[in-house]
Amino acid sequence: MASKPELSLRYYGDPVLRKKAAPVVTFDSDFALFVEAMFDCMHREKGVGLAAPQVGRSERVFVVDVEDDYGHTRRAFVNPVIRERDGIMTGEEGCLSIPGIREDVKRSERVVVEARDERGEPFTLVAQGFLARAVQHELDHLDGILFVDRLSPIKRKLVEARLKRFKAPVSGHPLGAEGLEPSF
Ligand code: ZN
Repeated sequence: MASKPELSLRYYGDPVLRKKAAPVVTFDSDFALFVEAMFDCMHREKGVGLAAPQVGRSERVFVVDVEDDYGHTRRAFVNPVIRERDGIMTGEEGCLSIPGIREDVKRSERVVVEARDERGEPFTLVAQGFLARAVQHELDHLDGILFVDRLSPIKRKLVEARLKRFKAPVSGHPLGAEGLEPSF
């Protein structure tokens, strides 16, 4: 019988974070267990979003568990595509794969996403505000894009020096104060 895999985070500098992930084609019990393990890993790391490349699997799936003004969304997005975008918002982001760095990022204010759930059932979701931010951050991960790539050129230059010095935390160590802010 298949069992739930134990997943651990990959950090900035790991090549898997820069790969374009492949579409999911098999929706079997192994895949469902992998998605469950992604939720476990995300909750353990106190994240509100997690994409498969962040746990070393280059496949087009991410999970979110977001509570905001619009409600509570706990969901897996498989082979997601953004069909519509509206507005622009700026807000702070942090990434579980780059602990210690948080910066303002411009995103669309509202997105319409088409995806499948972990059983392969298609759904359409309209996301606004913080959920829309989480969806866009995670979808970027599936294309090998990190939030630091989305900073203005000046900010990017400032962050570059810190990224050069970035060292992955020793596993099991708490992240400190930064870990308390929502990261994806
Ligand atoms: Zn991230």
